[in-house]
Amino acid sequence: MDSKASGFASKLIHAGGSPDDCGSAVTPIYQTSTFVFENARQGADRFAGKADGYIYTRIGNPTINALEECVNALEGGEGAIATSSGMAAVTTAYFALLQSGDHMVSTASVYGPSRTLMEQHFSKFNVQSTYVDTSDIEKVKRAIKPNTRMIYVETPANPGMQITDLQAVADIAHANDALLVVDSTFASPHLQRPFSLGADVVLHSVTKFINGHADVVGGILIAKDPTIATRLRKIMIVTGCNMDPHQAFLVHRGLKTLSLRIDKAQESATKIARWLESRPEVAWVRYIGLESHPQHELALRQMEGPGAMISFELKGGIEAGERLMNRVRLAMLAVSLGGVETLIQHPASMTHSGFSEKERLEADITDGLVRYSVGIEDVDDLIEDLRQALEDDPEAV
Ligand SMILES: *Cc1c(COP(=O)(O)O)cnc(C)c1O
Repeated sequence: MDSKASGFASKLIHAGGSPDDCGSAVTPIYQTSTFVFENARQGADRFAGKADGYIYTRIGNPTINALEECVNALEGGEGAIATSSGMAAVTTAYFALLQSGDHMVSTASVYGPSRTLMEQHFSKFNVQSTYVDTSDIEKVKRAIKPNTRMIYVETPANPGMQITDLQAVADIAHANDALLVVDSTFASPHLQRPFSLGADVVLHSVTKFINGHADVVGGILIAKDPTIATRLRKIMIVTGCNMDPHQAFLVHRGLKTLSLRIDKAQESATKIARWLESRPEVAWVRYIGLESHPQHELALRQMEGPGAMISFELKGGIEAGERLMNRVRLAMLAVSLGGVETLIQHPASMTHSGFSEKERLEADITDGLVRYSVGIEDVDDLIEDLRQALEDDPEAV
């Protein structure tokens, strides 16, 4: 990394990658599966780890490496590993850091597939898990067992926007010889740096804020300790969870505007959240930036801003949710989040429609819940879009 790049925004632009033989300002796409050795000795030395240099793209590639170095610098880590998806990053973390007989404590409302992967698949290897509301530190303490080797938290969590106190869970993990792994996707490194609060591994679905343009699926893991980074990389290599060079190029390009995008989106999100709170059709609004958020103070202590994600509950239940989805014209009706385009979704009729009402409530999905990911359009247009979609609602009081 360029030593002059000390501020976050400077690292976004300059960390990772160095000019190639042509003097390219930006690391080009090294669209190659393999790298040619000058002679047998060089090949042998690279395989033995005695010489630097690339071997094969699943193991490493300059375009992917440039992205890894940049995110590593942003998080303040000691090694980053890019992966084909966010779920590939989760898979790599579980495989690398847990063994048969170990126990993991995790956030109950964690990203669904992260829980399915553990409960339905890692359980086959005798890895046990307990899911609790990690925003309640006493519940985390009670869930710890003698064989707990990992606490895996997602904060802010989805869709309830609960905040887990990272410093407090890091202390519990380390007092029990366990590692703290943080899924920091909802915050991105612009708003939250878990290593400064004691985390051991941070992971992201770069599909969301880091890439930010709704055109790539990818993931990344960052470790605070170089030996843990090496363990993660070895698993990424043998499981084939690698990112590809074209994907890495796009993500690195998208990443450069992370601060600009999030600053703009959260300014709009704050206005939209306050406006929603004033609407008669809305029962409640859950946004970290509002004083009504139960963990508003903790959130602003451990994060540098409230971010771009809003959840709100419509008084009219499932029907009102479906109606709003069908009437918005600017916000796009789609799952995912963290892009420049505003996305809206209604979990009860979409992502969680196959669940029973009881199962939905266990996952914090109430009938009128709407998840809104604020993009960078004009905020007045976004508010007008919601206004025309909410108004004349027969369910409104
Ligand atoms: C989307 C998401 C994931 C999974 O990432 P993919 O890139 O879709 O595989 C994991 N955690 C969180 C919090 C997410 O939002």
